[in-house]
Amino acid sequence: MLNAKYKRVLILGGTGEAAELGVRIANINGIEAIASLAGRTREPSIPSGNVRIGGFGGVEGLVEYLRQMKIDILIDATHPFANQISYNAAAAANKIKILRLMLIRPAWEKMTGDRWIEVDSNSAAADILKNQAKRVFLTVGRQELSTFAHLQHIWFLMRMIDPPGKDALVPPGMILCDRGPFVLENERKILIQHNIDTIVSKNSGGDATYAKIMAARERDLQVVMVKRPKVPAGEQVADVDSAVAWLLNKLHS
Ligand code: NAP
Repeated sequence: MLNAKYKRVLILGGTGEAAELGVRIANINGIEAIASLAGRTREPSIPSGNVRIGGFGGVEGLVEYLRQMKIDILIDATHPFANQISYNAAAAANKIKILRLMLIRPAWEKMTGDRWIEVDSNSAAADILKNQAKRVFLTVGRQELSTFAHLQHIWFLMRMIDPPGKDALVPPGMILCDRGPFVLENERKILIQHNIDTIVSKNSGGDATYAKIMAARERDLQVVMVKRPKVPAGEQVADVDSAVAWLLNKLHS
């Protein structure tokens, strides 16, 4: 049972930053945190402390949960591409007038030597591949595979945490189940071993999956980079330290 005299914070998670924030908050007097995971991965890294798993049932479900659990502050620390939950969080927090903060890690910036083609969506990425690639390292996640399934003339190395479902539409190639962080040496090997000419990546930002971008730069490979979706309006910080500072400020103001 949660202690009612504490300020209650709900952390919408599924990222390393969310897990780290949970640990940091656990050491702050006067704040009690609950971490929420969508339940997408079979063996998720479960943050320590209070954890709930599974969708809320849209904005209405989230509103009900926030009310029931008497949440005072909502921290949206979801992945930059988890867009639906971020808009749901904004709508729900506005509706019941509680504080909301978005913790969004900075996007990767193109550097000298990078050969990026930036696109707005996975289907735009698939269009680019059609005429320009033969062997692709596809790192956009299990849920996006079907967008590339019609590209039967291309060979894909598809890396994801869990394998796709039995009936999933999957492009030709090989599935590689693995979970980051990934190191540069590993990424170099993959590009050479599979004779990759193009990488498709979301602009996730952060260090955990950046090594493939460095490896592509070294080998002068093309990267089709999917740009981030827009986030809802509201306060945002870029790292865990800033989120903790924001929380402490709210706690003492
Ligand atoms: P999404 O499209 O924004 O959300 C779809 C639905 O999943 C939401 O409407 C919500 O269901 C549920 N949901 C999402 N995040 C949740 C959370 N933290 N707690 C409880 N329910 C959640 O999200 P997604 O892109 O499928 O990502 C799912 C999760 O994986 C997120 O938590 C995200 O941080 C993590 N993740 C995503 C990516 C990515 O590339 N998209 C990469 C790494 C990690 P209801 O409407 O039923 O509440």
